[in-house]
Amino acid sequence: MNALRIKQRYSSAMKTARYWHMRKDGVIECTLCPRHCRIADGKHGTCLVRQRKGDELIAASYGLICGLAVDPIEKKPLTHFLPGSTTLSFGTVGCNLTCKFCQNWHLARANKIEGTRTTPKQIAKTALEAGCESVAFTYNEPTVFLEFAVDTAKVCHERGLKTVAVTNGWIEPEPRKEFYVHMDAANVDLKAFTDRFYQTLCGATLQPVLDMLVYIRHETNVHLEVTTLLIPGWNDSPAEIDAMTKWAVVNLGPDVPWHFSAYRPTREWNEATPTPLQTLLDAKSIAEHNGLQHVHLGNIGLAV
Ligand code: SF4
Ligand code: SF4
Repeated sequence: MNALRIKQRYSSAMKTARYWHMRKDGVIECTLCPRHCRIADGKHGTCLVRQRKGDELIAASYGLICGLAVDPIEKKPLTHFLPGSTTLSFGTVGCNLTCKFCQNWHLARANKIEGTRTTPKQIAKTALEAGCESVAFTYNEPTVFLEFAVDTAKVCHERGLKTVAVTNGWIEPEPRKEFYVHMDAANVDLKAFTDRFYQTLCGATLQPVLDMLVYIRHETNVHLEVTTLLIPGWNDSPAEIDAMTKWAVVNLGPDVPWHFSAYRPTREWNEATPTPLQTLLDAKSIAEHNGLQHVHLGNIGLAV
């Protein structure tokens, strides 16, 4: 892993991004996620890493990674995909959502683009040397570095490695098609079952995530698991969990694995208390009562 431990820091790369167009008024509109940022020259979208340089949109974090670790696949969490294996995890900076409760705030809301320069080949080589069976695009939102994730996934597949996305699921249909052709498994956050939550806490909307879950489940061969972080007072009411898991059984099927996870306050946002253990247990009970067959609890050590 030495090659990737070099502490040399680089700032933004120069790779043309996909999924944008120039409007008649000279503004570039990014169409990667439902935010559809309109970007003037020299500016960037909400995710920071899709930047306009002249008449082009640049994937400015291409080839720059932040964070690299060999993790048990169960930590993603994926419980039913290559169980007992390890995955080489990495992320970059930037995110298209603005979750106030983000646990990776330093990456998701970084104010500059920097990281360790690497290549898809180097990542695949490192994963194989570390005995991993897969590479995971995680820590920040992988779809904002779609070009690098796809290129890396292609090399991983050539070398017999599987690929994993840990994602918020807020992506437009066209790029999602490209992205998931190259993924073998995904853990998607369904952060809540209300637009109020998505709009107030994440600067996003619910429906695109639901559409994306249905897409993965019914139009791809990607292994899907779902995670919901239960935040007291925001998304943990029995009625909401009941509605969400009923929707899941009908639209995704009773065998889709579901992870309810405990929230802990962060320095950046502490407007909710830690999740009580009883809340997790109640959520599991409601989900199982509604027919979900594989309900797991995560971060139990953080529950109170
Ligand atoms: S991917 Fe980034 S630049 Fe593009 S629309 Fe989403 S937040 Fe905006
Ligand atoms: S989607 Fe994930 S990485 Fe992005 S801000 Fe929300 S919690 Fe953080």
